Amino acid sequence: MELFQYTIRKKVSLAGIGLHSGEPVNLTIKPAAVDTGIRFVRLDLGQEPSVPAFMNRVVDTSLATTIAEDDAAVSTTEHLLGALAGLGVDNAVVELDGAEVPIMDGSAGPFVHLLKKVHRRRQKAPKRVLKIIKEIVCRDGDKMIRVLPYDGLKVTCEIDFAHDLIGKQVYAIDVNPKRFAKEIATARTFGFMDEVKKLKEHGYALGGSLDNAVVVDQLGVLNKDGLRFADEFVRHKVLDLIGDLALLGCPLMGHVIASKAGHAQHLRMMQAIANNPDCWQFVRLEQADDDTVLERVITTTKAAGNKIMPFLVPPAPPFAAGACLA
Ligand SMILES: [Zn+2]
Repeated sequence: MELFQYTIRKKVSLAGIGLHSGEPVNLTIKPAAVDTGIRFVRLDLGQEPSVPAFMNRVVDTSLATTIAEDDAAVSTTEHLLGALAGLGVDNAVVELDGAEVPIMDGSAGPFVHLLKKVHRRRQKAPKRVLKIIKEIVCRDGDKMIRVLPYDGLKVTCEIDFAHDLIGKQVYAIDVNPKRFAKEIATARTFGFMDEVKKLKEHGYALGGSLDNAVVVDQLGVLNKDGLRFADEFVRHKVLDLIGDLALLGCPLMGHVIASKAGHAQHLRMMQAIANNPDCWQFVRLEQADDDTVLERVITTTKAAGNKIMPFLVPPAPPFAAGACLA
């Protein structure tokens, strides 16, 4: 894992539409000071409210991950947060003039492309890492997600759809900026034709089209150019998971294994982490004289902890209970 915090060298902007509203959105990513984390700012609302990208701000996980501060919501955060986390950007302010992060092509590719153009800037502060020291398992029916100690961040996702084209797929990756950009970032979100129809009938996914999602029916992929990877579906699940884990507010050191999981299970896992402080510790990574990396455990007294990690502030009421075992 990297030793220092990073931001970006200068601001970058893009424009797109919201997947669910179909409305245009402009988005600008700006450099930010040490320990800012990722923070969204709604420029279209009076007083330009700011929404920190933290798990205790999550208000909805039904179709995408939505965070909010009071009435100011930002939805579909996962692909942009995946791009920032995947490339190792710790601190940034994301300004937008709508309630949804633009869907772009349904992947994190356009965000990664943009962020890579401006490069990262190393900051004069060590990264703080949430290091898993004891396994945590969350089960929710046939869905399961667990996290165990690992030297680095590793993500393993498994999906199993009763569809010939998808079926059972597994993908495992040791996450670093290079591999993230190459293997995960460009995997697009996907949906089934009959579900997409239903969503549109109910006023959702109004901006959804073959330009921003892989759409599948009984016969195969409807997108004219087909898939970007034979296992694009499970790779996208890896992206969603990395994007949601960014809501921990700092990099995770551990191996996360998710089976048939979605945004709701990702959130539940993060809540289980927050509620089981004996299963992890905050560490600061430092380079020793002999070039080895030292992990220094940071104090987690309440005052220091609140400053370090917002999730030590009591989280929002948990979603429907699932079994989480430390
Ligand atoms: Zn997604």
